[in-house]
This record gives sequence, C-alpha cells and structure tokens, in this order.
Amino acid sequence: MSGLRRLRVTELHPNLLCILCGGYYVDATTIVECLHSFCKTCIVRYLESSKFCPICDVQVHKTKPLLSIRLDKTLQDIVYKLVPGLYQRLDTQDADDRSEHSQLCPHTGCCHGT
Ligand SMILES: [Zn+2]
Ligand SMILES: [Zn+2]
Repeated sequence: MSGLRRLRVTELHPNLLCILCGGYYVDATTIVECLHSFCKTCIVRYLESSKFCPICDVQVHKTKPLLSIRLDKTLQDIVYKLVPGLYQRLDTQDADDRSEHSQLCPHTGCCHGT
C-alpha cells in the first residue's frame, strides 16, 4: 500500500503548495466558489484586504468572503500523508515498530522463560 502512495507523491506535490506562503498547506482551506486551496491563516489574512481569489480572481463573496471558505480535511490529510516532514511521527513510529520488534525477538524468549 505504501508503495502505491509513494508513486503519487511527485505527481501531487505541486498541488499541495500554498501560493500565498510558498509552503505546504497548514489547515488547508478551500474557496468554495472556485475550489482553490490555501493555508487557513494565509487565505484568512488575504481576504481581510481582498474579496477575490488570489489565483483566479473569482469573487469569493460579495461582503463576507470568510463565509465562502471551508476547511478541507481531505486535502490536509493528503498533505500529511505525502509530506514526510509533516507526518514524520507516524513514519518513524512505523519503522521503529519493526526494527524494535526484530531486535527484541531474541529477548522475548528470556522474558517468557520464567
Ligand atoms: Zn500558506
Ligand atoms: Zn480561485
């Protein structure tokens, strides 16, 4: 399964970058009008001074642009899965589990010996 995931990484990475800060999405938030996505803090700050999407210039909302953005949990999930730095804890945990297990194997005999 993890092999399949890795294949897609290069394909998807450019879509996981916020053009406002140049980094990966943090609390990915999508404009419902055009489905462009940004970090929550980036787009909220941006919409304080503009009511138009920074990418396509569509009007986000006539008066209250914050009403037309939605936290995108699915997208944020993808970011966590595809960006190892952000998801390091799970990755290393997985690797540790395996190496620790094989290392401990010779000793389990002792523990169970009593
Ligand atoms: Zn951003
Ligand atoms: Zn847009």
